Amino acid sequence: MTLLAVDGLETFYGKSQALFGVEFTVAEGEAVALMGRNGMGKTTTIRSICHLTPARRGRINFAGKEISDLAPHKVARLGIGLVPEGRRCFPNLTVEENLLAAARPGKWTLQGINALFPRLAERRTQPARTLSGGEQQMLAIGRALMTNPRLLILDEATEGLAPVIRQDIWHAIRTIRADGQSILMVDKTLSELLPVADHCVILEKGKTVWTGTPAALDTATQERFLGV
Ligand code: ATP
Repeated sequence: MTLLAVDGLETFYGKSQALFGVEFTVAEGEAVALMGRNGMGKTTTIRSICHLTPARRGRINFAGKEISDLAPHKVARLGIGLVPEGRRCFPNLTVEENLLAAARPGKWTLQGINALFPRLAERRTQPARTLSGGEQQMLAIGRALMTNPRLLILDEATEGLAPVIRQDIWHAIRTIRADGQSILMVDKTLSELLPVADHCVILEKGKTVWTGTPAALDTATQERFLGV
């Protein structure tokens, strides 16, 4: 079943057009990698889906409902959990308070997040501001999962983090994907991203130019659109 369908998205920053017709779908239970070189429109696409930078034209259908006109909090309430670029937590609340503040009924509970991220469990009584960058990113992912989203969106979840922490985060992403969580993700490290993806969508200059499986993403396509 199609969970998210994006069609003909055109988004502007003032007079400057950033998206010129983005289209792709995410099926229920699928992990989709949104790819493309710097500045091609990945973050803008995510911001448009969440109505943070609303699209001027195009359609966004989520779980059978047209959501292009819904305010961000309504999009979130329908089941889209965003972990934006540059993590955001409540700095003065403890790790556990941060997680509980996000909680909505569903299968993800404090216990599940603690099992997914043992480092967070160890630090559950510490204020979020005392966490390392990587731990704050784990907390941001934990908070998004605590909302029990039907679709989890990760925008550069591992950017700028130390290798050990990156591995922990990829391990967690593989775990939640194996559990059937639908995921839309952006990441620059293809060697880590591709093994987790069921499907890839490549953007160039604000347009979808290629979609297919990681296996179909040959070297020529990578060179052409990703500059590898
Ligand atoms: P990156 O990997 O560098 O984050 P991206 O693929 O996510 O790139 P976007 O951040 O979506 O790309 O940017 C798409 C286009 O929109 C770029 O040309 C960028 O310069 C422009 N853009 C992004 N944010 C703004 C903004 N706040 N104001 C004006 N233009 C913007």
